[in-house]
Amino acid sequence: MEIHYWNRKVETADPSERAQSRLADLRATIDRALGTDFYARRLGEAGISSGDDIKSLDDLKRIPYTTKDDLRSAYPYGLLAVELDDVVRVHVSSGTTGVPTVIYHSAEDIDNWTELAARSVTATGADRRDVFQNMMTYGLFTGGLGLHYGAERVGMMVIPSSSGNTQRQIKLLRDFRTTVLHATPSYLLHLHARLAEGGVTPKDLALTKAFVGAEPHSENTRLKLEAMFEIDVYNSYGLSEMNGPGVAFECVYKNGMHVWEDAYIMEVIDEKTGRPVAEGEEGELVFTTLKRRATPLLRYRTRDLSFVYDSPCRCGRTHRRIGRIKGRTDDMLIINGVNIYPSQIEEAIMQLPEIGNNYQIVVEKSGALDRLTVKAEVHAGIFSDDARDMNALRRKVIENLRSSIVITPVVEFHEAGFLPVQEGKAQRVFDMREEDTA
Ligand SMILES: [Zn+2]
Repeated sequence: MEIHYWNRKVETADPSERAQSRLADLRATIDRALGTDFYARRLGEAGISSGDDIKSLDDLKRIPYTTKDDLRSAYPYGLLAVELDDVVRVHVSSGTTGVPTVIYHSAEDIDNWTELAARSVTATGADRRDVFQNMMTYGLFTGGLGLHYGAERVGMMVIPSSSGNTQRQIKLLRDFRTTVLHATPSYLLHLHARLAEGGVTPKDLALTKAFVGAEPHSENTRLKLEAMFEIDVYNSYGLSEMNGPGVAFECVYKNGMHVWEDAYIMEVIDEKTGRPVAEGEEGELVFTTLKRRATPLLRYRTRDLSFVYDSPCRCGRTHRRIGRIKGRTDDMLIINGVNIYPSQIEEAIMQLPEIGNNYQIVVEKSGALDRLTVKAEVHAGIFSDDARDMNALRRKVIENLRSSIVITPVVEFHEAGFLPVQEGKAQRVFDMREEDTA
């Protein structure tokens, strides 16, 4: 397989060489962070008054974790590390609690982010000949803008179509011979259904690749998308606190996402104890920014669950890889005392070719117990209104779920197109239990 690099020297550097520049960047990051109200206090409490107090990368452990709540409490200026005049962009996320978080970017920050995004898209083999239709939402959410500048830097023709308006997306896709898409996996499933309705097949399109992210999804969903569109689908990871897309990306081998370790220090910790997990074990990802000027973040707890691959990648990149995001620590459902991640349910149902594009997970109280209902769309031609016709499939779904989550769910089937489709991140989980008890 042909391997393309955007920045070969950095991407293939020996990790031991990288360690020196990482330590220097970490010290500089701490010095910048000390200029903020938040970190002046937080680092002061930990006895750190200068970057020079950090003698090795191992000393990172002296620094307390930063959480989403810390970001909220520091809103709006508590984490700003440069003069406001040097800020060229802010991304604000509202979140569910109503108190927003903000990340500031200087011109240099945007430039560094663009470099990471350019490396990321190039790792998949995309290049200046590609036409890139960016179906992620543009705006305060970082999904759209995140890869936009990276794709431009690589020289791709970017169609900033943003999310939604599927008919217009299809027109752009056809008229401009789009070759690369960027979207959530749930939106691509929806797009495919609309294309199929209009009689459009992959042969009518010029697509070769899609980048998917922003939602945890299973390997089966990837395989399904690849078969539907007859393309290669690559996993992308990012979060607005760490810029957005371009933190980690799959290369042509699709065996985990390379984390750009010259720009971030990644740790994997036990989400309960806060201690590092053993090599290769699953845990919560924690990131420290090494390059960012305007909003340095130290040991930020992402609440995203993944693991690190221990084997080197055949592409020659020396940046470690993480597995697809299993879910968020706060996505975990406790159903009748059993810990379940929605991604486990998706994995179990998407293995079945009869199951269509959309599903929902509903948890309710049923007497003293919790009841889990899985609603899944079934492909046209398989769906029947007569429940008896669906019994064989229902048994398969229940069997798959039981072997994965040890719980017997209620399974409801629906016709394709029945369940609502969201334009941004799909809401799949409806936990009604709190409302019931209120
Ligand atoms: Zn690789």
